[in-house]
Amino acid sequence: MTFTILGTAAAEGWPALWCPCEACEQARALGGKNIRRRSAYQLGERIHVDFGPDSFAQMLTFGLHYERLEHLLFTHSHQDHLSPQELSYRRTGFVVEPLDTLTIHGNEAVSESILRAVDSMEAIRARFEPTVPLEPMDLGEGVTATALPADHAEGEEAFIHLFEREGRRLLQANDTGLFPDPTWAFLETKQLDLLLIECTYGPRDGGRHHLGANQVIEVRDELRKIGSLKADARVVVTHFSHNGGWLHERLEAFFAPQGIEVAFDGMQLDL
Ligand SMILES: [Zn+2]
Ligand SMILES: [Zn+2]
Ligand SMILES: [Zn+2]
Repeated sequence: MTFTILGTAAAEGWPALWCPCEACEQARALGGKNIRRRSAYQLGERIHVDFGPDSFAQMLTFGLHYERLEHLLFTHSHQDHLSPQELSYRRTGFVVEPLDTLTIHGNEAVSESILRAVDSMEAIRARFEPTVPLEPMDLGEGVTATALPADHAEGEEAFIHLFEREGRRLLQANDTGLFPDPTWAFLETKQLDLLLIECTYGPRDGGRHHLGANQVIEVRDELRKIGSLKADARVVVTHFSHNGGWLHERLEAFFAPQGIEVAFDGMQLDL
């Protein structure tokens, strides 16, 4: 099953909406893998993670059919990951054909944010399922997702997700900061085939809320040490801010000797 990375930028996109800094100007000039939309992912045709301000552009660019989605998982309620207004277009009048019910998984802040934009979940033909950390969610067709606590958002519990299918495992880890203890304890019991992890700050140090390149390597090494990465596991970095300054090629030059790949919008992984 194909896991598509639909966006690889932090909140402001890259080039950032209003920013004329060198990293943004270079991205504008070079284009290609340096153009980064806000983060979202799709697994097959039925499962999607986060629905931010670039959802419409992602639908056009990557030929997506959101009407076929059955499960929409939210990592947290920050606006680069959740645009409630775009969900409101599921209402009658904006969609002229019948729509199957969409199950939305998220924390309380996600449900509150959506309910500020629409009268009810029923109005957007959705059912809200509060995310319970460390409990596998059955998403059908042999796919499960388990939400693991992240150290990211103030005033709400942010999650990363472990996807499992036929014995293969992918950890989608943004926005995360350094993993909290329960997440480490859970990961100790699992072996990953794919680790997709944020590198928001590039060469700058992260810690709480977000990671930089050196922390990515520390986390990868620790996962190896506790036996949670298969020998042939792929490690991929994503969720970059222009504040880090490193364009795609520079990120690749840093990570290639570590055996780590750098994500770009449209990159596909196989789960
Ligand atoms: Zn983010
Ligand atoms: Zn910039
Ligand atoms: Zn965030």
